[in-house]
Amino acid sequence: MNPISAFDYHVPTHTLFGSGCLNRLHEQELPGRRALVVISKGRSTRANGYLDRTLRELELAGVSCEIFDRVEPNPLKDTVMAGAAAARAAGAEFIVALGGGSVMDAAKGMAMMATNSGDLWDYVLFGTGGRKPVAVKPLPLVAITTTAGTGSETDGGGVITNPETQEKTAIFDGVRLFPCLAVVDPELMTSVPPAFTAYQGFDALFHSTEGYISSRANLMSDVVALAAIENVGRYLAATVADGGNLPARERVAFGNWLSGLQMVVGTCTSEHSLEHALSAYHQELPHGAGLIMISKAYYTHFIKAGCCPERFVRMAQALGMSEAKEPMDFITALAALQNACGVGNLRMSDYGIRPEEFPAMARNAMDCMGFLFGADPAPLSEADCIAIYQASYA
Ligand SMILES: [Zn+2]
Repeated sequence: MNPISAFDYHVPTHTLFGSGCLNRLHEQELPGRRALVVISKGRSTRANGYLDRTLRELELAGVSCEIFDRVEPNPLKDTVMAGAAAARAAGAEFIVALGGGSVMDAAKGMAMMATNSGDLWDYVLFGTGGRKPVAVKPLPLVAITTTAGTGSETDGGGVITNPETQEKTAIFDGVRLFPCLAVVDPELMTSVPPAFTAYQGFDALFHSTEGYISSRANLMSDVVALAAIENVGRYLAATVADGGNLPARERVAFGNWLSGLQMVVGTCTSEHSLEHALSAYHQELPHGAGLIMISKAYYTHFIKAGCCPERFVRMAQALGMSEAKEPMDFITALAALQNACGVGNLRMSDYGIRPEEFPAMARNAMDCMGFLFGADPAPLSEADCIAIYQASYA
């Protein structure tokens, strides 16, 4: 399979990357004087001192702040609406997201709904969404990422859950939801516990493995995807083993950032649709954990279908298996990395997932995130989706 030679690459995000770079936030040109700082509802952002450091930087830059501290994992539509109301009440001219993917994604929704009327779901383009165009430009967003997983600091989409309709789907607004500034400081990631470091790292990895086998892979997406797979694949286990290993953290953070670019110039595939259905039904399932659970069966399906064999070999090599010759070597390398990171035996049943749910989940994946199926290297039927879930069940 040859990559498409045409691509569209537009990333309007100024990125500061490197350990300690949060200390340079106050030197940056910021998009206003009043900000809503969005953090998770957990205690870690405060306990680790990240919130105080960020507020001090903003104060040095002459910015006054209000704090919104109610974002949950797999953020909910109502939380986005509450944050948007808080941004309006505070007269915020921009939003600062300080946290992981959930915080950054929720902040994108808040930026959109702070300036637009109605409900967030009016603007969702998929499932039961109202498909309305976003009339008013969202507030600018500064993203300070404390995890290496979603790539949300450098892409223009966010993933929000609507529990009333059991939909977990994406919001977009052209290039207007890209952060204007991304701060990627791996020092802020050293406090992430090992299991979450692994879940997030695999999310970053799959953003690129999906892109690399996609029917929409292009000259540019191949470059960033392979570099992302190398950086995450070769340094994730060391990062999980020792969260304070800063050189390894930096490489995983770099790989994650590249994977974010991959999603902009390339695409994900239906592995993400299938996972979103799992965590739409089981809110407590971390996105990365769900991806890990289905990954071996998912990629094996396309290998057995004869899709892009040379690309699977190349990905196995990028993961560090220099002697790889067969497409199935990718599955071997992937399983080895999962075992090295202590996540080789995640079980759906531990999260209360039941096989009886698989047909509804397969339909949910196609309804809510159907747009990714078109990027698969071969068409995936509803029966194929159910078979992938079943093969992944433990
Ligand atoms: Zn993801």
